[in-house]
Amino acid sequence: MTSLSRVFSGFRISRQGKGAETDAEPDSVDLPEEVRREKATFERAGRLHRVHWAVIALSLVITLSAWQYSGELVERRAADRFARYSTQIVEMITERMGRYEDALWGGTSAIYAKGGDISHSDWKVYADSLRIGAKYPGINGIGVVHYVAPGKLDAYMQAQRKERPDYRIHPPHRESDNLPISYIEPVAANRPAVGLDMAHERNRYTAALKARDTGRAQITGPIVLVQDSERTPGFLFYAPFYTGGLPENGPARQARFAGLVYAPFIVKRLMAGTLQKDKREISVKISDGEAVLYNEHVAADTDYDADPMFRQTVSVPMYGRNWSFEIITAKSFRDNYTSSQPTLILVGGILIDVLLIVLFVSFSRTNRRAIGFAGRMSRNADEKAVELEKMVGNLAASNEELERFAYVASHDLQEPLRMVRSFTVLLRDRYGDRLDDDARNYMKISIDSAERMQELVSDLLQYARMGEDAQQVTNIGLDEAFDYAVENLSDAIRDSGATVTSDKLPVIRGNASRMARVMQNLIGNGLKYQAKGATPTVHVSAEKCDGGWIVSVQDNGIGIAPEYHEQVLQPFRRLHNMTEYSGTGMGLAICRKIVLSFGGEIWVDSEEGKGSTFCFSVPEAVADAAENANLETSDA
Ligand code: ADP
Repeated sequence: MTSLSRVFSGFRISRQGKGAETDAEPDSVDLPEEVRREKATFERAGRLHRVHWAVIALSLVITLSAWQYSGELVERRAADRFARYSTQIVEMITERMGRYEDALWGGTSAIYAKGGDISHSDWKVYADSLRIGAKYPGINGIGVVHYVAPGKLDAYMQAQRKERPDYRIHPPHRESDNLPISYIEPVAANRPAVGLDMAHERNRYTAALKARDTGRAQITGPIVLVQDSERTPGFLFYAPFYTGGLPENGPARQARFAGLVYAPFIVKRLMAGTLQKDKREISVKISDGEAVLYNEHVAADTDYDADPMFRQTVSVPMYGRNWSFEIITAKSFRDNYTSSQPTLILVGGILIDVLLIVLFVSFSRTNRRAIGFAGRMSRNADEKAVELEKMVGNLAASNEELERFAYVASHDLQEPLRMVRSFTVLLRDRYGDRLDDDARNYMKISIDSAERMQELVSDLLQYARMGEDAQQVTNIGLDEAFDYAVENLSDAIRDSGATVTSDKLPVIRGNASRMARVMQNLIGNGLKYQAKGATPTVHVSAEKCDGGWIVSVQDNGIGIAPEYHEQVLQPFRRLHNMTEYSGTGMGLAICRKIVLSFGGEIWVDSEEGKGSTFCFSVPEAVADAAENANLETSDA
């Protein structure tokens, strides 16, 4: 198979491969296993898969938990606060009632101190000492109720009217005994109460008897005080006293019952004196059974919350009665303990989740796009590579054709050229003396031209042959190639008196005759391109480089201007005419072709008038004993 057909068949194979690739799945058919695995990893990483959804789900769970926990925390804090407020308010009222009770018992003590009864003036002294207005702001006053047993009313009235002639008991009732309010201080605010008989009304009477029988302080059920012009709910607070001190048991108490120290309460005033409404944040409603004693649960109250956050009802035993406290949170409570934190957490968390999803989706899209783009780029690159391969094939084919043409042409030209020269020389030798000078000169020109053409054709043939004949590549010693070249150039060296030297040269990988040829051409040029009368010096050296050697041939000749460094390596490129320096312009082109055929490069480093250094790279020798033993020195 010729090299041309080799190129073409190679090209065909490559095209078939490409056709198959376009029909099949392009990515999986052509890609090497490693690249395919990496591509699959990228694709997997770019897809929204379980890990992404797990992250989003986890974030959602965390958000919901944080929202719920924060909500519970806020609610718990508010509930704690409400419970504390509720307890506080009940405790405050209970404690206040306890202080009033003390004042009542103080009254009974004063009576006992006076020997079992007390005069109006003494009572006034005691009442004044209490400083009711300042220390007991909830009560209207403090008074004494005397127990008047059946049949003792006249004696009682006489005794009272000694000091107060206009004193009277009221209103009339059906009970056989009487419990009139004898004194009450300050009297000015309680005048309607003076002489009021506790037996006239059920609540007052029942509580009085209960106080008598138990010996304990008692309050009445809800009543309207006679001194309350607004007729709001109120109650009386009793503490009993007895003749000769507190008896041990019920019958004795009934027998020795002497009266009651009492205080009238208007609940509204009691609460105003006890509770500071502004700071409470809760509303309270107090009931005694069905009857409402005090009520802040009214729309008129600006802080009242019709839909309270918390509500609690507490039943508290209160001196013989049961007071029910219904406590609810007020609007100010809602304002202070409603937090937007849980909502913020929820909204913020969901926002983060949405952002996460957007991020993942856009990341996945970008990744898919990148993979698609890479795929397209690689397909483009493949197509370009095929195109390039095709062009290289075409170029190689046409190169080869050209070389073959040059070879055939130069080979076939050799014979007619030799004939032209031979016969012209024959003509000159046989008939030269019969011709005139002009004719002889013409003949000389013909012979010179034929010879020059022979040279050209011979060089062209060599150049073409460099690509045609199969090379034998072995480990070769460059020293031998150098010696061989110097020997071939011995005439020129001797004639010019030149000095040609070399360092110790390495063993390299190549073809011995071709390397000798390169050496000869480069050293020959070093000898030739010299100024008139100069003595040439040529030195060959080698330097190790990555994977091979760089060989340098340095001379002290005329040098080459940098703009011609590339040109001189092309075929038939000469910088001088024949009269200056002889030559065909093929020497360096042949060198270049040889060096390239071994995978090396050739270049020149030179300046005009400063000598030239031609360098070329060659592969290093392979470490093979058989190869080394087989060193070739010449086949040229
Ligand atoms: P030839 O020597 O046959 O003319 P080459 O290919 O060997 O052809 O050289 C091409 C041209 O490069 C030469 O004509 C010359 O001008 C220039 N040249 C080559 N070698 C040297 C050198 N060592 N010093 C200066 N010029 C050189």
